[in-house]
Amino acid sequence: MSALYPWLVRPWQHLLNNKARPAQALLISGSAGIGKSALAYAWAQTLLCEAPRPDGDACNECGACHWFKAGTHPDFRLLTLQEKENKDGETTLATGIDVEQARETVDFVRSSAYRAGRRVVLVEPADALNVAAANALLKVLEEPPLNTTFLLVSDQPRRLLPTVRSRCTRLDVGLPPQEDALRWLRDQQLDNAEEMLALASGAPLAAVKCLEEGGLTVRKDLFQVLSKPSSLDPVMRADTWKNLNPRVWHILTYKWLCDVLATRLKCAARFNPDYSEALLKLGKHVDLARLLALSKAHVEQGRYVMHPLNRQLQLETWLIQYRQLFIEDEKT
Ligand SMILES: [Zn+2]
Repeated sequence: MSALYPWLVRPWQHLLNNKARPAQALLISGSAGIGKSALAYAWAQTLLCEAPRPDGDACNECGACHWFKAGTHPDFRLLTLQEKENKDGETTLATGIDVEQARETVDFVRSSAYRAGRRVVLVEPADALNVAAANALLKVLEEPPLNTTFLLVSDQPRRLLPTVRSRCTRLDVGLPPQEDALRWLRDQQLDNAEEMLALASGAPLAAVKCLEEGGLTVRKDLFQVLSKPSSLDPVMRADTWKNLNPRVWHILTYKWLCDVLATRLKCAARFNPDYSEALLKLGKHVDLARLLALSKAHVEQGRYVMHPLNRQLQLETWLIQYRQLFIEDEKT
């Protein structure tokens, strides 16, 4: 697939090599921001293509390919988080894929196919299936109707029900080698490729997204504040920070906490070495148990960071907890 990211050539080739007998339920997992979704869509198109090229790849020209690219292929279903309106009239994403959606999908795969006979269901993010939805799908994952393929995409496959995971063939997509990722980022004419890639933990598409969302400027502002917890005013800060992109905020603060932990354990700061001096000071005075608790809660919160019930309150709580990590020291 010519348009696929260069670091996906190997998993792509692996899929093509097994095209004669494709996995009926394939779980594509790996870090966020490395192109798993693009890989899944490319594979879905290839499975549905009615005039594949000699190497098995989609032709990009037949009716099925056109429908697929237009998002109208009748034998393709996307099972994903639905948009809904909150009470303020804002559009937000649901926090989970619910059982009604799963039941519709089951009906879809049990009905007859419209075209050449194959149906493809893409479930993304598969870890968002709630328990009832996952159980509803389990029946068709266990005994998939003929010529039906399920593609599940997940950044956090451990969150899937073990029964669902065990029905799937795994395709783990690793992070691209740093050199490949940097070369690609530079080809996209991105400034600060190295910094952005480090910030995104080596995931190139996450780096692009972070940059588009003003990651570097936000980073400087955040870290100046977090370097001086004793002068931090949670209410005022939450008020300024509530307008930042929540995902960027979450990534940056998470990595900051990781670095505080690293310096507490007498290791070097991994994500923000340019703030080593400030981190070293924090590491000396941080309460380890509280830091671990906040880090754990932070990871949990990441799942809902894009649709908090009250962003201001969420930030205030976090900032108060952050300040308390160091408060014992101030008394001494
Ligand atoms: Zn085609």
